[in-house]
Amino acid sequence: MSEKQIKNTVILGATGSIGESTLDIIDKNKNRFNVVAVSGHKNINKLVEICKKFKPKYVVTTHTNSYKKLCELINLAKLDTLVVSGAAELNTICQLPEVDMVVAGIVGSAGMESVLATVQAGKDLLLANKEALVVAGNLVMQAAIENHATIIPLDSEHNALYQCLPDDYSVGATPKNLKKIILTASGGPFWNRKLDTFSQITPEQACAHPNWDMGRKISIDSATMMNKGLEIIEAHWLFNLGVEKIDVHVHPQSIVHSLVCYEDGSVLAQLGEPDMRIPIAYGLGLRDRIPSGAKMLDLISAKKLEFYSPNYQKFPCLALAKQAIEIGGTAMAILNTVNEVSVEAFLNKQINFMDIAIINQKIMQKVEIEPVKSVQQLLELDSEIREMTRQVVRENG
Ligand code: NAD
Ligand code: MG
Repeated sequence: MSEKQIKNTVILGATGSIGESTLDIIDKNKNRFNVVAVSGHKNINKLVEICKKFKPKYVVTTHTNSYKKLCELINLAKLDTLVVSGAAELNTICQLPEVDMVVAGIVGSAGMESVLATVQAGKDLLLANKEALVVAGNLVMQAAIENHATIIPLDSEHNALYQCLPDDYSVGATPKNLKKIILTASGGPFWNRKLDTFSQITPEQACAHPNWDMGRKISIDSATMMNKGLEIIEAHWLFNLGVEKIDVHVHPQSIVHSLVCYEDGSVLAQLGEPDMRIPIAYGLGLRDRIPSGAKMLDLISAKKLEFYSPNYQKFPCLALAKQAIEIGGTAMAILNTVNEVSVEAFLNKQINFMDIAIINQKIMQKVEIEPVKSVQQLLELDSEIREMTRQVVRENG
């Protein structure tokens, strides 16, 4: 492989679940990638282990209090890797001329600025960090179009949709001759559980996803189905679609990862084992299909593929996300922030499972919605809503 074909890659959130799967694929395709930089937050030991193996030029901790310890450990390991700290520095690294692509694997709106920086610099963005798009969808898509940045979604559903679009599909366009899309949802661990027992759900039960092994925040989002709600918003921005063109089918087997329905009645779908390395490999290969390490799907042993309508009564977060799109402006950012704080409160056992949706609805109704104009506005709104939600959590507890 010529040096020009080797992709200089930055991995944001390298210590997380998406980061780990990404590094596993890179390890299997060493001749295609050069890891320029990796970032992590508080898990410094894991970050150092990654540096020992992948020898990046830069390592970033976004948790400034961990900077000193990270420097000491990198020194101790006798690595040439430069240690950097802070969110602003992370943005600079995403924009370095030598960087070709950035894997956005940070969880939550904390990843928003690095996602924006990536597309502003016209780099290839491999996007797992759906919250960045939920919060700042219009800014990210506009910057990507203006700067000719490619966005390949890594979220399995959106990656499946992307795989079902024509090769010449351009960023942010409404796909040609499209009737609608269908996002599949596993339904999470509770889609079959009785609603009157929902208030007894514990964080441990909610984190135990039947099909996917993921970080804690997205696991709770899957259990409330807010994850699907956020994904409806993600699809709205990525493919420029109104809510009326986005359907959700509960598909407990998680084998059909999503479907595109075209005007002529054709329905295209992408199938595969529920293994995030498949969508990540498609992204890393920039549509070239490179080895991912995933098991090959065996439909004979899978036997059954089932599809159901979602239950909006059990999972009110789904409807909240659709409403947020219809309201527009800052409504989606508000929903995301309230959700991040209430999920954390549930994980800390301060509120019960159903309170997540109740608090989301309560604050959505209370706050005045404005058009999204700038990153600064979104950052200020985020701290205001975080404080407001913490207050509601305290009153609730
Ligand atoms: P995770 O919790 O396993 O990892 C999160 C990463 O973000 C870690 O590297 C952590 O150090 C970093 N991080 C945490 N807080 C941070 C902060 N304040 N500033 C900067 N970095 C911070 O999460 P994950 O499951 O890998 O998910 C990452 C993103 O990918 C999420 O947006 C999630 O919705 C999306 N996603 C994940 C999966 C999956 O299977 N895990 C699937 C689809 C989409
Ligand atoms: Mg998904």
